[in-house]
Amino acid sequence: MSDQGNPIELSGAGKEDRKFDTKLIHFGGEVDAATGASSVPIYQASTFHHHDIYNPPSYDYSRSGNPTRQALEDYIAVLEGGHRGLAFSSGMAAISTAFMLFSAGDHIIVTEDVYGGTYRLLTGILNRFGIEATFVDMTKIDEVKAALKPNTKAVYLETPSNPTLKITDIAQVTEWAHAHDLLSILDNTFMTPYYQRPIEQGVDIVLHSATKFLGGHSDVLAGLAVTRTETLGRKLKYMQNGLGTVLGVQDSWLLMRGMKTLGARMAHSEKSAAKLAKWLSERSDIKAVFYPGLASHPGREIHEKQSSGYGAVVSFDVGSAERAKRVLSSVKLPLVAVSLGAVESILSYPAMMSHASMPKEVRHERGITDGLLRFSVGLEDIGDLLADLEQALERQ
Ligand SMILES: *Cc1c(COP(=O)(O)O)cnc(C)c1O
Repeated sequence: MSDQGNPIELSGAGKEDRKFDTKLIHFGGEVDAATGASSVPIYQASTFHHHDIYNPPSYDYSRSGNPTRQALEDYIAVLEGGHRGLAFSSGMAAISTAFMLFSAGDHIIVTEDVYGGTYRLLTGILNRFGIEATFVDMTKIDEVKAALKPNTKAVYLETPSNPTLKITDIAQVTEWAHAHDLLSILDNTFMTPYYQRPIEQGVDIVLHSATKFLGGHSDVLAGLAVTRTETLGRKLKYMQNGLGTVLGVQDSWLLMRGMKTLGARMAHSEKSAAKLAKWLSERSDIKAVFYPGLASHPGREIHEKQSSGYGAVVSFDVGSAERAKRVLSSVKLPLVAVSLGAVESILSYPAMMSHASMPKEVRHERGITDGLLRFSVGLEDIGDLLADLEQALERQ
């Protein structure tokens, strides 16, 4: 029933002339229309009273719609410049719900660098329901084109990709997709709408693990989706309600709390990430550095065409598994963990963490070597982070 709109006044929505930083604060839910409260009320209710049995209320049951979740959904739609936003219990809930738009017999072209959970969903779950995927190097348009089949229904992009930050040309792939009546779907977790708004470049559905930069504090698991059109919004809403993959109201509130500082956090972390990438690339004991902001990064020009920044994730190869493990055991500041995009720096080891289930040969082919570390730069002082990493790299 939340199709009816939100009782919370949307003062920010539709004010297109406002800059992104202003939209982050004045997104519509910043002042509660009923009380003037300075944040969106948490409507901790599963169901809503029918005052008039002949005129059902705009919200009737929280799986179908809840004002707190709705405020978040409108917020992300404003930020991505899309028609409709939807909030889910995790990034994977958003992604799996989006894939439910497809049916048995459908085929999807997917970037080979896709997030591990999405790979598992496609190859271990959706394949059993007759939804077929072909994985291609999406940085090469010819590979994308060659994967087209009569039953292809969509292309699925991720740029920059994880963990080697490969760049896909969003406009090139989506233009080709639209010419073939394919849906284009993009996982925008790494860039966030602060740096990259794919809907403005023709993408149909943008997905997020809001667990990462949008939430920003390693304290909430959430997923978001934004559709370019009203029709797609209605279809995805139908899936969300039918599958029940919704985000709870406490987490919806917490996510909005985190998103308000997205701009300040991204700007600070990116500045530090650029310094880290430069520092690493000047060291003779580092085999490779992956960061779209480096002049040498493949696809940098394409990235600059479609994004306004380089993000806060830097991957680098320390040369061997032994050295990588020594660094992981010696750092004192970053959290050694999976995940990324938080106020605290997070250092992860793809070979043993996010990409552990990938066969070694495939992993190496994708550049995910045994010495590769991924550094998600947080808000600590960059001098302290570099000093800490230096002592870890110098351990014998
Ligand atoms: C973490 C992540 C996901 C999955 O999100 P969850 O919130 O963990 O379910 C999807 N895509 C990318 C790029 C991610 O980093």
